[in-house]
Amino acid sequence: MIIRMSTLLARTLRDAPADAVTDSHRLLVRAAHVRRVASGVWSWLPLGKSVLDNVTRIVREEMAAIGDQEVLLPALAPVAAYEASGRADDYGDLLFRLADRRGARFVLGPTHEELFADLARDQLVSGRQLPLGLFQVQTKYRDEARPRSGVLRSREFLMKDAYTFDADEAGLRASYAAHREAYIRVFARLGLAARPVAALSGPMGGSESEEFLAPAAAGEDRYAECGSCGLAANTETVVGEDAGLAEKEAVGERPCPRCGAAALRIGRAIEVGHIFRLGTKYSDLIGLEVAGADGRPVRVQMGCYGIGISRAVAALAEQTCDSAGLCWPDAVAPAAVHLVAAGGGERARAAEELAGRLDRAGVRVLLDDRPGLGTGARLADAELIGVPRIAVVGRRAAEGVAELRDRRTGVSADAAFDALPGLVG
Ligand code: ATP
Ligand code: MG
Ligand code: MG
Ligand code: MG
Repeated sequence: MIIRMSTLLARTLRDAPADAVTDSHRLLVRAAHVRRVASGVWSWLPLGKSVLDNVTRIVREEMAAIGDQEVLLPALAPVAAYEASGRADDYGDLLFRLADRRGARFVLGPTHEELFADLARDQLVSGRQLPLGLFQVQTKYRDEARPRSGVLRSREFLMKDAYTFDADEAGLRASYAAHREAYIRVFARLGLAARPVAALSGPMGGSESEEFLAPAAAGEDRYAECGSCGLAANTETVVGEDAGLAEKEAVGERPCPRCGAAALRIGRAIEVGHIFRLGTKYSDLIGLEVAGADGRPVRVQMGCYGIGISRAVAALAEQTCDSAGLCWPDAVAPAAVHLVAAGGGERARAAEELAGRLDRAGVRVLLDDRPGLGTGARLADAELIGVPRIAVVGRRAAEGVAELRDRRTGVSADAAFDALPGLVG
């Protein structure tokens, strides 16, 4: 596929929004990946949508690989379900509430445990149907007190949420472990450094939860890691709310609450995923039961598992960007190669020819075919947009040779047009 800059809806910006304090916010806007519509509400433009879709595809593949079935529940949900569980109060002002023309009250779902438990109660009869894993990729709504950092913390965002149903605790432990492993694979494939740490369960409830934290200075979470005993936890769980923690970060290593060694490091990170063993919290509420082996009813054990898909895009941007712009890992990049003609005429024609050749070889090409733009401006945009390889058709165009540059390392080498599909594919 050839994506043409001449027609692509991707007006890059020289200046970042005045309120942007994080790299991902600045760069995703400047590189025309997203556009602000209202506070915490964003549009995804073609380049950003492509990255978002790539993240979604990888998440989907890994969920399907562990046998989860994809469904889609409504974002518009009756408030009664959240009132019955007590979460209408727990979430409070975070809930977007609305009423229909007849006065029936709804929320825009912030997460969907109640609706999934209800679905399972309707569909499940026998323990032989378990274990069951369901997931959806859906837009969530939370009226965050402080939407910030662009799509890192927005009020409308894309989440993959999965829910498992088991007949006993051993089953839940197995389902939880399978999802934990799947998450590790997802983040490895995305090229995002993220690791599971112990967490508090918050309004989700349940006995145990882990967060997947992606180290980044822009992160709002802090985690503690002990170099001696291996403890890894959100700082909330080891030291509680500690107003002085920000200063202590700078001090370096401090005593570990578990082993006592002065090897506890505190770091900042972005929460990109959160997995929970819910147990029977929601099953108890609505009487979610199946017939066990002896015919007697068994309370279903639930787990729930979220990945912030739109947030993961921002987290990737945070971890990989540099002073020139975004720098997408291969797995999520909007194209495999960004093709730039250094000049018009023969060089532009050679670039066209090369784009066609790459396309026929199945390579996704972003071709800068905008008329009347200098080479410097083209290269600056290529670096800003962050496709992993930039091919410049210049001095040696007539010989069928381009300069192939690695966006991340900046290392470049001449490459024959013939060889390029193999080098970038
Ligand atoms: P946070 O602590 O950042 O507010 P959370 O703990 O409230 O997140 P969960 O309820 O655990 O979030 O939701 C699952 C995942 O959804 C999170 O791990 C995160 O990746 C994503 N997420 C949560 N809130 C937002 C948001 N406002 N914008 C983008 N992604 C979000
Ligand atoms: Mg939150
Ligand atoms: Mg959290
Ligand atoms: Mg969480």
